[in-house]
Amino acid sequence: MRNLYARFAGALIFATVCLMPTQGLALQVVVTVPTLAALAREVVAGNGHVEALVSAGQDPHYADARPNLIVTLNQADVLVATGLELEVGWLPALVRQARNPKIVVGSPGYFDASQAVRRLQIPTQIDRAQGDIHPGGNPHFGLDPRAGASIVEALAARLAQVDPAHAADYQQRASALAARLRTLAAEETKKFAQLPAAQRQLVAYHDSLVYLLDWLGLRQVATLEPRPGIAPDPGQLAKVVGLIRANAIKVLVIEAYYPKAAAAQVARMTGAQLVTLPGGVKFSEGQRYEDCVRGVAASFYAALSVQ
Ligand SMILES: [Zn+2]
Repeated sequence: MRNLYARFAGALIFATVCLMPTQGLALQVVVTVPTLAALAREVVAGNGHVEALVSAGQDPHYADARPNLIVTLNQADVLVATGLELEVGWLPALVRQARNPKIVVGSPGYFDASQAVRRLQIPTQIDRAQGDIHPGGNPHFGLDPRAGASIVEALAARLAQVDPAHAADYQQRASALAARLRTLAAEETKKFAQLPAAQRQLVAYHDSLVYLLDWLGLRQVATLEPRPGIAPDPGQLAKVVGLIRANAIKVLVIEAYYPKAAAAQVARMTGAQLVTLPGGVKFSEGQRYEDCVRGVAASFYAALSVQ
């Protein structure tokens, strides 16, 4: 009897899930990285649910493809990805296994954020031996608020296509956010321009600052990784220490998700300040994109201002 009941209940749940109309349900937006998820959350707001596949503490180049992510992707109406092959090592396999035609590349439900961005560092020749280079350009644009502004506008247009009933909501929120982000970007550019040129330079651990440097008018004198994704060897460390001393560099920037030992050693040897760049907006903790970006600019400015 109990068995029969369980079977009946199972069948009922199955029928309910299968027959549930997709219209009228909140829009399910799945986003690969937390920074883009924070942007999407502000555009989607009460019209849907936004989920991130990777947390701010994870390296987005190598996310682990946990099976629960397949379920999440299976139920998505929209998938937002960075593009430029940032997620190439893990996302295509998950999307394939999710068997959700709404989010496959080329469908309206697949949104490639890089398409909305003015891309930097497009390689002239492609050689995988050069590390994790991306043939379409550098994918680390997330924390550049100018990119953020373009992304929310393009995302709103896409959401309007997927969920036309709420088109005006998406577009209105995106326009307001984009305007705030452009104002924020311009204010910071002006502020950093007032620093003496000798202080507007730094060394990075990974080659992921190109958009921030472009935004804030900074110069990257050296990179600790000899090639993207390759840990520095003693020869490279010695070379970078020499460059830091020769150029009187005061700041060394590293993403939160990279091992700190080598960078900390270089900082100790040279007296440069080690600045940690968040791996992304702390989306799961409710952090807002603007607050994260403002925090990044403030930490750079404080470190560069030291005489
Ligand atoms: Zn990278």
